[in-house]
Amino acid sequence: MGLIADHEDIPKERQCILKGGEIKDGNYILYWMQRAQRSEFNHALEYAVDKANSLEIPLVVLFCLTEDFKDANLRHYHFMIEGLNEVKHELEDRDIILVVKHSDPVNTVVDMSKESSITVVDKAYLAHTRNWRQEITKKIDVPVIEVDTDLVIPVEETSDKEEYAARTIRPKIQNLLKKYLKPVKERNVTQSSLDLSFDCIDMEKALDSLEIDASVKPVAEGIGGSSKAKKQLDYFVKNKLEDYPECSNDPSKDGLSNMSPYLHFGQISPIYIALEVKNKGGEGVEGFLEQLIVRRELAFNFVYYNEDYENINCLPGWARETLEKHKNDEREYIYSRKELEEARTHDEYWNAAQKEMLKTGKMHGYMRMYWGKKILEWSETPEEAYHTSLYLNNKYELDGRDPNGYAGVAWCFGKHDQAWKERKIYGKVRYMNANGLKRKFDIERYVRKIEGS
Ligand SMILES: Cc1cc2nc3c(=O)[nH]c(=O)nc-3n(C[C@H](O)[C@H](O)[C@H](O)COP(=O)(O)OP(=O)(O)OC[C@H]3O[C@@H](n4cnc5c(N)ncnc54)[C@H](O)[C@@H]3O)c2cc1C
Repeated sequence: MGLIADHEDIPKERQCILKGGEIKDGNYILYWMQRAQRSEFNHALEYAVDKANSLEIPLVVLFCLTEDFKDANLRHYHFMIEGLNEVKHELEDRDIILVVKHSDPVNTVVDMSKESSITVVDKAYLAHTRNWRQEITKKIDVPVIEVDTDLVIPVEETSDKEEYAARTIRPKIQNLLKKYLKPVKERNVTQSSLDLSFDCIDMEKALDSLEIDASVKPVAEGIGGSSKAKKQLDYFVKNKLEDYPECSNDPSKDGLSNMSPYLHFGQISPIYIALEVKNKGGEGVEGFLEQLIVRRELAFNFVYYNEDYENINCLPGWARETLEKHKNDEREYIYSRKELEEARTHDEYWNAAQKEMLKTGKMHGYMRMYWGKKILEWSETPEEAYHTSLYLNNKYELDGRDPNGYAGVAWCFGKHDQAWKERKIYGKVRYMNANGLKRKFDIERYVRKIEGS
């Protein structure tokens, strides 16, 4: 049996050998679940089931809860642990154990792999989670296979380089969609792992046992998890998809899918969402899939190939030059990070957007653009604005710390965009102002909605 297996629903292009070698005579297959926190439409999980069945051994799924995950706080952990509780029960229904450990992934995966035949992991796109995988492969003694399951098309298959804009990645995606936009079927395990015994944390007490930044409170109880994601999606597809082209850019209306937090934690697959939307058909499908697939996969391409995604050096040359040229332009307003964080600016529209994020953990997509543009305008330097935007986005958005967040912030500074008419502070970077909000929709209604919530 080889390490790479070409199944129609798990094409070999999704699989990558991080460490090769002989398959060991182990007691189980280890699947280290990290990004894809779900039991359905998970190519890494199903690949691991196939391997376990062909070796006639059980499958053990491991999740490591770390306290120092980059920029994560109570709001994020709370949502994630609700989802993990569901995964645990869903896997149990499939005779698969989920071992949740309160530990650092590198040592834990290496340790648990000592009894495994091979170790499987879902693909990472951001630097710190890719580093984990690199560290593991240096220390581990068994083969390690990484499976790309959080993108419709595997990131390296779409393109082997950083793409310039949506217009350059779109045709590449369109050429490959037929091959990759397919369900992955759920396999039954032939050997249960439920009778194996491991030291695990008690999921009921998991949150309390963690020493984490608790300054940002959870948004609400009972909203995390795949079942909630599917329920929201179902509601969106039945009631809002048709109006998506008209309503998605109007923050005074509730026209979005709200899939981003679930996608961020891997609690739902983009393939599942895309297939549900396509099945329904109608007006909104094309516009929605443009966001879900083209824009989202452009963001993943960006963080995967541009190591500067957390700083202004990631911008195209024209944007860096123009921002540098206008760096010392006089600013009418300058706000500190704290004033911005506390929504204390002169602009009630901006304040409403910031408050929406503080309260709900999800600012409307259209307001995110205006929000980022104004931070650029009201900060001492573009560099400071860049770091403040990422800091606030990652701290308060439930979907923050995601490739989409890094790409969204970068877009406000010219990434994936073109040069526009030159003006103060922005230079040739696209400008947005409050009059634009007034022209496009009922911004006062949005402010009332946030103030009243
Ligand atoms: C400054 C700024 C910061 C942002 N921060 C984040 C972030 O931290 N996390 C995040 O997921 N998105 C971020 N975005 C992108 C976008 O605003 C959100 O993905 C979207 O608002 C999420 O809401 P939804 O799922 O209801 O969207 P819907 O409109 O229903 O879209 C469905 C899905 O399509 C994808 N999508 C939609 N718009 C975009 C976009 N512009 N770029 C890439 N993918 C998109 C998302 O995966 C989204 O869940 C940011 C955008 C900007 C301008």
